[in-house]
Amino acid sequence: MAELEGPEFGKADFVLLDEVTMEQFLENLRLRFSQGRIYTYIGEVVVAVNPYQALALYGPSAVERYRGRELYERPPHLFALADAAYKAMKRRAKDTCIVISGESGAGKTEASKYIMQYIAAITNPTQRAEVERVKNVLLKSNCVLEAFGNAKTNRNDNSSRFGKYMDINFDFKGDPTGGHIHNYLLEKVRVVPRVVPRVGAAGWALVPRGHRLAPSPCSLSQSRVLQQQPGERNFHAFYQLLLGAPAALLASLRLCRDPGAYRYTREGTQGSACGDDAAGYRAVEEAMAVIGFSPGETGSVRRILAAILHLGNVRFVAEGETAAVEDAAQLAALAELTATAPDSLRRALLTRTVAAGGGELIEKGHSPKEAAYARDACAKAIYERLFCWIVGRINTVITARGYDARLHGKSTVIGVLDIYGFEIFDTNSFEQFCINYCNEKLQQLFIELILRQEQAEYQREGITWQSIEYFSNEPIVELVEQPHRGILALLDEACLAVGTVTDSLFLASMDARLGRHPHYTSRKLCPTDKTMEFNRDFRIKHYAGDVTYSVEGFLDKNKDTLFQDFKRLLYNSTDPVLRAMWPDGEQSITEVTKRPLTAGTLFKNSIVALVENLASKEPYYVRCIKPNDQKSPTLFDEERCRHQVSYLGLLENVRVRRAGFAYRQPYHRFLLRYKMTCEYTWPNHLMASDREATQALLEQHGFQDDVAYGHTKVFIRTPRTLFCLEQERAQL
Ligand code: ADP
Ligand code: MG
Repeated sequence: MAELEGPEFGKADFVLLDEVTMEQFLENLRLRFSQGRIYTYIGEVVVAVNPYQALALYGPSAVERYRGRELYERPPHLFALADAAYKAMKRRAKDTCIVISGESGAGKTEASKYIMQYIAAITNPTQRAEVERVKNVLLKSNCVLEAFGNAKTNRNDNSSRFGKYMDINFDFKGDPTGGHIHNYLLEKVRVVPRVVPRVGAAGWALVPRGHRLAPSPCSLSQSRVLQQQPGERNFHAFYQLLLGAPAALLASLRLCRDPGAYRYTREGTQGSACGDDAAGYRAVEEAMAVIGFSPGETGSVRRILAAILHLGNVRFVAEGETAAVEDAAQLAALAELTATAPDSLRRALLTRTVAAGGGELIEKGHSPKEAAYARDACAKAIYERLFCWIVGRINTVITARGYDARLHGKSTVIGVLDIYGFEIFDTNSFEQFCINYCNEKLQQLFIELILRQEQAEYQREGITWQSIEYFSNEPIVELVEQPHRGILALLDEACLAVGTVTDSLFLASMDARLGRHPHYTSRKLCPTDKTMEFNRDFRIKHYAGDVTYSVEGFLDKNKDTLFQDFKRLLYNSTDPVLRAMWPDGEQSITEVTKRPLTAGTLFKNSIVALVENLASKEPYYVRCIKPNDQKSPTLFDEERCRHQVSYLGLLENVRVRRAGFAYRQPYHRFLLRYKMTCEYTWPNHLMASDREATQALLEQHGFQDDVAYGHTKVFIRTPRTLFCLEQERAQL
């Protein structure tokens, strides 16, 4: 018998609410959250509230309870969703994907790990060694990716600063045979924190980010670009190395234990959990070994991390017109760690090669300020490439090998997407712009798949149907990505322009050309709006709310310039790992006249490809909600939840689902499965059509009020009806 929840836990599916109102939705969510029932369905969508406490929901007995069951047979759970995706993949050979969304700290990454853990637990019953290996690598890869891609932020102590899409390949038996990880836009500015304490706004850091829809007036007078908020840290990997590595290793890397000694790790070290970092170091060591990183590779990774820390401490002084390195010992350590020639290193730090007319090359000295800028750009680039190299290295280990479709049948895939949620900070920059654009695209896909497709099918089948009003965010997506006219195109245009183009000129060009767009607001065209600054801010009306972006740094970040001198330097390193990260360092300066794609365009291309990939699969959704900003297991902040429910479009989702039907099947398929439960249809019906036979069958069971008959399919409103039919069938 099905094991379901009692009424004291509220409604397990929002579809069952008495009325679909925000109040009832929130009340049900609150009631369930207060009793540890953090999962609730909307049809096949799982709404998950971050419990902020360890719940006994994920052990081996829980896995057994959900294994092979139907969604509605057990209380709502991620495992049920993972099982549904797995069944679709195994039984119907469908490629599926699980899209996890929600804002930072809502529980996306944890959810993705539970889903992977479930899939690992239910597969490979025969313990085939190769499958075990793949599963192990898939599970261990999270630990390594989190060390290098996550950081402590004010909203989440373990915040993913990159987007991750992981494909798991399955063979015909339904066992994982490989996988592939795609990573998206690592927040590399975090490597180089530039925290500027705010004068006269003491204590502001206690206000969690992402809390306000519009910046508070107090933050407006601040015109500096904040790249990292006070209290936040660099990527975990740096602290893990400093606090976890054995003393001898640290000495060989010329490092000391104190993160406060390095410019890149100085911020946010007070009160950070050092014990966790030391334990993290050991866990990552172990995980890298299991994945198959060789000791040589692991050594290189550590040296590269150390090199970045040393690089951050390189300081420049003026020597006449140009810059010189202040501390020669620093330079020597850096040359050793990067396995580069000290003289080449010095030159790369202090000068750059430019092509003069006639193919002639001249060396141009940096000013101290230019040198400092180039140094930080280099540190960010090295870290980013290190991260990509790690992902690539993991991929070489898990890429499905030796799979022969002719022998083994079609290989199927489950994709799991855990990508940064919508972000609204006090100061929003290029990174938030990209992240929020990505969320617009995913929201568009959600609307497309869940809402529009559903309505279209009813219309096609001739089922009476009341259209649901929903908000289409297409105009916002267009505002950002439209060729020639969208913000990204204008940004590229500004980056390509000859002469000095500043961020403010880019803003002026947007104001001139997008000023009348309903989702774009410019201070210039709206001078009464005192919440924005002239010459600095523009605002986009996103589906999740209005976000004011500071244009400062947009051009720089989009161009993402790294002098060829650095690339060549690192390509010539004798460290094989470091060298492998810089294939483009081989080109000489005269060859690199062709401009590389900008950061914005690369990001757009990767997101467009991602959305196409997701759209080709059968989607399953997890919508994560952050109950409060205090990380409290008991506090249900109604306003914060209301906002999330609203912008995730959950009420519309319930309305569509309620107006709709949970199950649908072509008549002949339906009869094939259930004809034995009815005397009129067994063994074969004699009626004029399959449709009539289906009708007779359902009426005999008394389900006539729960179904509708389309042109080619029967539609069943509630899952329970199907469940009862399944039981009838089983009892025969
Ligand atoms: P996101 O990826 O959405 O930013 P995380 O998945 O990193 O958020 O979750 C943030 C924190 O919330 C975790 O570090 C953990 O402490 C807590 N958390 C999230 N989901 C759960 C869960 N299912 N059970 C217990 N704690 C959770
Ligand atoms: Mg995360």
